[in-house]
Amino acid sequence: MAVIRSLEGGDINVDDISTQKLGASLEGALLFPDDAGFDEARTVWNGMVDRRPALVARCVSSADVVKAVTFARQHGTLVSIRGAGHHIAGNSVADGGFLIDLSSMRDVKLDSHTGVVTASGDVLTASATKNPDLFWALRGGGGNFGVVTSFRFQAHRVGPDVLAGLIVHPVSAAREALAFYRDFTAAAPDELTVWMVLRKAPPLPFLPADVHGKEVVIFALAYCGAPAEGQQAIAPLQAFGVPVGAHIGVQPFAAWQQAFDPLLTPGARNYWKSHNFTAVDDGLLDQLIAAVGALPSDDTEIFVAHLGGAQGRIAGDATAYPHRDTRYVMNIHTRWDAADDDNRCIAWARAQFAATAPFATGGSYSNFMPDDGEDPVAAAYGANAGRLAEIKAQFDPGNLFRMNHNVRPRG
Ligand SMILES: Cc1cc2nc3c(=O)[nH]c(=O)nc-3n(C[C@H](O)[C@H](O)[C@H](O)COP(=O)(O)OP(=O)(O)OC[C@H]3O[C@@H](n4cnc5c(N)ncnc54)[C@H](O)[C@@H]3O)c2cc1C
Repeated sequence: MAVIRSLEGGDINVDDISTQKLGASLEGALLFPDDAGFDEARTVWNGMVDRRPALVARCVSSADVVKAVTFARQHGTLVSIRGAGHHIAGNSVADGGFLIDLSSMRDVKLDSHTGVVTASGDVLTASATKNPDLFWALRGGGGNFGVVTSFRFQAHRVGPDVLAGLIVHPVSAAREALAFYRDFTAAAPDELTVWMVLRKAPPLPFLPADVHGKEVVIFALAYCGAPAEGQQAIAPLQAFGVPVGAHIGVQPFAAWQQAFDPLLTPGARNYWKSHNFTAVDDGLLDQLIAAVGALPSDDTEIFVAHLGGAQGRIAGDATAYPHRDTRYVMNIHTRWDAADDDNRCIAWARAQFAATAPFATGGSYSNFMPDDGEDPVAAAYGANAGRLAEIKAQFDPGNLFRMNHNVRPRG
């Protein structure tokens, strides 16, 4: 017999015949806590999340997902869906729950549907013409509406080589650097993205040894058009100030994408908080400079990502993601190793979040927000929250999919 957490929070005893039937019907595997692979399935990127589900369905096909969702609905189990397990909130795993693990479903085909298994166990295609409400909700609405088993993306050509790299300034030049960043990015072409990162310098080989571990301001840039045009576009950035180091060159886009992986390895403890901004106020610069002077750990960083461009020219009600006017998204990316430091580091992140709130829009980006008692749905979806609640009522009236930034069904 398996004891699984119910949707309401109590325990449900699921008899052996039901679990055996499910296990035998899956093309993938049904894993119990002692089975090989169970720990791997429950371990997520954020080391602060240490949850133990009761049962894992390792799915390898849409048919497997249908069987797992049907099992969860019929037994009333608390269900969580795991993609890569990268989200900071750790909602892909529920203590005592039933985990639907999609991490083996990695096929990439050049043409396939946006396939969704809904709470009723139906397999639907969602597109601009088929189930358009569901399609609208899935683009930004988190895992609230069903288990997405395949996506179809329109690809845009980038690279294979791009002009990209880092320019690193000392913290003593932070005020000028931040103000320059604000003006420069406000006029940047669509092809150019520059993130500003405030942190202690990692031991990067192009930085002098005496800079390692010191607070710095980093411009991380990528130009996704022709590299020769990019050289012109970034010339003012390169001419600014006296950097302590720089490393910019033409490199494969895939290499740039992976460049920061060594700083973002799984297993460390993480707590993130995020704000959106339409402009960078002087008061915000003051707060950022104060924050970089009081970082709680060597691996903590505050980054300001530069948005705009094509995604900013889509209407706020065209998809579930409403914050198209956001020009900068800040992530207070607090990261440390020892559990003893949890309270101190989390308190620091919350203090920075509060201090920068007066300059923010009040909206947030769901991918960067934890579940910590505040209502992430209102901030994430703004004016679109009502329509999302109606679509939720249509496709998941029992709120089976609730291990997420949860949109509750209206009514
Ligand atoms: C190092 C690092 C860097 C990152 N950088 C960025 C960045 O630059 N930009 C950005 O936008 N995000 C970034 N993120 C955040 C990341 O993209 C999101 O957290 C994303 O949700 C992770 O996807 P996942 O498949 O790992 O989700 P999981 O952690 O597995 O799940 C997250 C939520 O989605 C639900 N879910 C997962 N898969 C499905 C599915 N197929 N169908 C329905 N629901 C599902 C889960 O139930 C859960 O609620 C970063 C994360 C890390 C760890």
